[in-house]
Amino acid sequence: MIPVRDDLRALSGYHSAQVDVRVRLNTNESPEPPPAAFRDAVAAEVSRVDWHRYPDRQATELRAAIADLHGVEPDQVFAANGSNEVLQTVLLAYAGPGRTVVTFKPTYQMHAQIARVTGATVVEGERADDFALDPSEVERVLVAAQPAVVFLTSPNNPTGLVEPADRVRQLLDLAPGLVVVDEAYAQFADWSAVDLVSDDRPLVVTRTFSKTWSMAGARLGYLIGPTWLVAELEKVVLPYHLDAVKQIAGRIALRFTDEMNARVKQIVAERERITEELSALPVDVVPSGANFVLFRPRAADGRAVWQGLVDRSVLVRDCSSWPRLENCLRVTVGTAAENTEFLTALGDILAEEPNGVGAR
Ligand code: PMP
Repeated sequence: MIPVRDDLRALSGYHSAQVDVRVRLNTNESPEPPPAAFRDAVAAEVSRVDWHRYPDRQATELRAAIADLHGVEPDQVFAANGSNEVLQTVLLAYAGPGRTVVTFKPTYQMHAQIARVTGATVVEGERADDFALDPSEVERVLVAAQPAVVFLTSPNNPTGLVEPADRVRQLLDLAPGLVVVDEAYAQFADWSAVDLVSDDRPLVVTRTFSKTWSMAGARLGYLIGPTWLVAELEKVVLPYHLDAVKQIAGRIALRFTDEMNARVKQIVAERERITEELSALPVDVVPSGANFVLFRPRAADGRAVWQGLVDRSVLVRDCSSWPRLENCLRVTVGTAAENTEFLTALGDILAEEPNGVGAR
């Protein structure tokens, strides 16, 4: 064995358990596949792919279709293999050794993880007890850290909280560098920062095809940002990073916007049902603007409840050992039948012992 980079030695990877269960509600995927007409159209185009040629390096048609969707120009769009790779490319270009990246905990852990892999220093500010951003803490951290990049996730993962527009404006006012708003779950919420993007502001908004577009298997994400920033990212990313099949799949997906919106509506309705039914159980629930709900059993041990659900073939995300999230679990909104199965299993587990499972 040869030693890995000194600064990587203490890092552990980011994993979600892949357990063989009937009801998988742990990774915020869409419970429904894209429509059959999408699969047929992709198959037809893929049958004509020039397999011996490199793909269009600029992903011209895909970027034009994404730009169209958001009413921006194609040179404001950068696409990559999942929004994680978009974030990595941003951090390779704007973070790295000698630069600082700021996040506010609890939030999506990959922001800090990718930043550290680029060699940047990470400063993690703290959210308030209700997981909202505290404007004075935001100011304190930004003034002290002077970050090259600051992240905001809206709706936030794993809490589901939607950040108010004022918070984004505050970051834009105070941040000396780039502001990244991660909107992986934006279609489930009621506002987006995309409208704030312009060449005069150091702001990018990232999106993914993995959730609302039902395409986690394809690995496709993008950002909307200033043209000067997109030009820098194109220098950093590997040549031909987006394969021909993915470019086709992404472009065709965008023809099915109505179907996507219908799925979002259904998921939002189910999210509200889950929130309501959870509120009748002995758990605290965080109001969510995403396709998942964070909850905390009041009297039971979170890890034991997670195991009880797995024993009933229901997999949720165990956040109970994450900083600030002691005892918390996160459930992704599934199909109506899956959600009912989850709620029934949880109700049974919490009712099993008068003081709850593994009472604290
Ligand atoms: N951002 C957030 C907030 C996420 O929750 C996720 C997925 N868990 C991602 C980005 C990454 O999504 P993908 O790489 O699948 O596009």
